[in-house]
Amino acid sequence: MSGFFESSIMARAVQRQLVSYELVDIRDFANNKHNKCDDELYGGGPGMLMTPEPLASALDSVQAKGSRVVYMTPGGRLFNQQYARDLAAEEHLVILCGRYEGIDQRIIDTYVTDEISIGDYVLSSGEVAALTLVDAVYRLLPGVITGESLEEESFEDGLLEYPQYTRPAVYDTMQVPDVLLSGHHANIQAWRYKKRLEKTLLYRPDLLSGRGLDNELRKLIDELLVQRGEA
Ligand code: SAM
Repeated sequence: MSGFFESSIMARAVQRQLVSYELVDIRDFANNKHNKCDDELYGGGPGMLMTPEPLASALDSVQAKGSRVVYMTPGGRLFNQQYARDLAAEEHLVILCGRYEGIDQRIIDTYVTDEISIGDYVLSSGEVAALTLVDAVYRLLPGVITGESLEEESFEDGLLEYPQYTRPAVYDTMQVPDVLLSGHHANIQAWRYKKRLEKTLLYRPDLLSGRGLDNELRKLIDELLVQRGEA
């Protein structure tokens, strides 16, 4: 986990004091000989659950009460870019990672403000999920990445990103679309917008359904549907 904070853009953000972090090992707060932090489930069932006492001590050590405390869990609210923006506005975030079958409900009831899932699948530990969340959030903090490169990314403006090309202009007989070589800014913007719509329609039509569609947009979508034989 520490490797993530010591590499690439994150390492620079830490060095420039745009982000600070503390990694806490819950096992350090276990009050027993083998640092055991799990036990069987009341009511029966397979697997083990993280016990409340070490979790509470670990959370108290980072002054979790009064802070936003996120518990990573497949049973939580689905994470997305809007959620990342919301968390990026926080001064202090505590992120709790589960193991085994998860954590005792009383810790969720006492400390947790947000139960967050990164997707409809089950990972074996919360750390991988937490890194995903941290990565999505910290790059939105002022100064970490230039604003312009964030503005045109997927999900900004509720659409997926347009296809992108770099040199060479011809690769393995495949040519970069002419419009991108034309230098005509307005045409490039129009092409990119159409491609964003096309891609969103193909992979994430759900993103378009909540969007107010003006006439021009409706026309464009109808055209794309006709092209794809769906109208
Ligand atoms: N018994 C849990 C359930 O069915 O919901 C799954 C526990 S999972 C094996 C162990 C830990 O991985 C969880 O406590 C959580 O911290 C983390 N985890 C697994 N999948 C996740 C997901 N999709 N999003 C966020 N955290 C996840």
